[in-house]
Formats: sequence, C-alpha cells, structure tokens
Amino acid sequence: MTSAETSRRNIFAVSALDRAAERRDDEAWIAAQRASPAARFLGFDGEARAPVRSGRLRLLDAAAAGDAPANFLGLYGDAPVFGLREPVAHDAFADAEWLGLRAAGPVLAPDDAGLLAYARGLLNWQDATRHCAYCGAPLVLVSAGHRASCGSCGRLHFPRTDPAVIVIVEHHDACLLGRQTAWRERQYSTLAGFVEPGESLEEAVRREVREETGVEVIDCDYRSSQPWPFPASLMLGFTATAANRDIRLADGELEDARWFTASGIVTGLRDGSLRLSSPLSISYRLIGHWLRLRAGIDLDTLPRAD
Ligand SMILES: [Zn+2]
Repeated sequence: MTSAETSRRNIFAVSALDRAAERRDDEAWIAAQRASPAARFLGFDGEARAPVRSGRLRLLDAAAAGDAPANFLGLYGDAPVFGLREPVAHDAFADAEWLGLRAAGPVLAPDDAGLLAYARGLLNWQDATRHCAYCGAPLVLVSAGHRASCGSCGRLHFPRTDPAVIVIVEHHDACLLGRQTAWRERQYSTLAGFVEPGESLEEAVRREVREETGVEVIDCDYRSSQPWPFPASLMLGFTATAANRDIRLADGELEDARWFTASGIVTGLRDGSLRLSSPLSISYRLIGHWLRLRAGIDLDTLPRAD
C-alpha cells in the first residue's frame, strides 16, 4: 500500500473538496460563490462543536447563513463550501447532534471528517492570530480567510501547521510503546513529538525516541500522515528500527516505556491490562499495521477499553 493510500485510512485525512486556492484572492469570484444558491456553510457552536446527523455534517444554505463572515473552503463539484467564523445557535439544526472534533471524527463519513478538520484548523489559526507577530498591530483576514494582513507593517501571516512525528519503533519481535502520567491507567501509545527548527523528520524521530526512552534508532521510514487540528498539528507517522532494547527514561515526558510482543499486546487487550489510543489516532493505525505485518493480527477484531 502506498503512503497516499495509507494516509486516506487516517481519520481527518480524506478530502473530496477542490480547495480552488488559486481563486481565493479573486474577490468578485468569491462573492459570486457566496451568493450561489448551491453554496453551503459549515458552522460551529461556541464550544467548537459541529452539527452531525446520520454520519454527515449538516450545512446551512446561503439564506440561513445571511451575511455572516465566512472562510471559503472550496468546491464540492459546483457547490461552494464556506466555514462560518462566528458561532451558530443550535436551533439552526434542532435535529442534529452537536459534536466536537474527537467525537465527530469516527462517526462522520471520511470526507466530512476531513472537511471538519480543515474548517476547524483554519478557525483555530484565526482565533490564535489576532495581532501581528512583528509589530503587534491588529490583523485583517484576507484571501477569503486564508491569510492575515497587518495594517501597520504590511506583513502577511500564513496559517501555520506544526509538524509532529509519531513512530512505532521495533526490535525483532517487539515494538516500543510508552505512557504519560496524565493518561488513563494502563494506556500505552507510540512515541511522538514536535519537529524542531533546523531538523529533518528523520532526525526528529531519532531524537524523540532517544530523549524519551534512551533507545537508539538505526533507521526509519515514512508511512502516512494525519491532519491533527488540536490545535494545529500535522502528524507524520513513521516505522523505525532500534539498535537494541535498552530503555532509559531520560527527559521525564514518559512515566513508563516497554517493549511489547504481538502476543503481549493481544493478551493485554483481552485481559484489560493494556489500553491503546483511540482508533481516531495515527498511533492506533501504526500499531495495527505492525500487528498485521508481524503477526497477521487484525487490531480491529480485538477488544478495546476506550
Ligand atoms: Zn505588523
């Protein structure tokens, strides 16, 4: 399976939308899209929850959206899709369930989950980017919501995405998982961390694994990616091979790290002594991939404690 195919299995990573990015600065075209009877608008409530019904997002039409400020997200065929910048009231969709990203991701059709992550990620950036990072003056959104311009020094600000590596490290018949103190009891996950300035992805994998567990990585391979708008990450999933199994908890980020064999994971999930991250996460996918490859086991058939 290619990386593109693997990524499409990750929640939030599927998009059926043509972003039409080259049209965002064409104000007349954007206004015409907005006025189109086919236009649809995604709105969140004041707690960043979106309306969901029967596995699909509920979208407002142009009449219901009125002239509320909105970000142009793209085109579904001929239908323009916008994301509203201001909260909408629940009575807009009395029949919908209002769900946050984590709850909505697994129950939505894959392309709607992707749309949700995209709309929310853009709003997260706008919420956190009110003032110019250079001179402190207020910013004005331009390019249909995809850029912010400083009225004082003229600098343009771009939506930011923070790359984070997440990796399943293996050594012969075992993989390395760790747990943080704040997690639920008995929960273990693959190792992860943000990429630092001046660092390649491969170096970030090597450094994170060494810092958190003391284990030396010999080699790693990119596997798939997942938008992770909590608030602005992109998870980059890797598989890696370790030189040995010597664990030395170094930086205090993990309370425990262990080598798990495939049968150890299966036994732990069956008897409740082990929990994994939610299937929402790329960690779950990486562990699933490793179990399938090394032991022919389908993680989705095993009990979950989440
Ligand atoms: Zn400025």
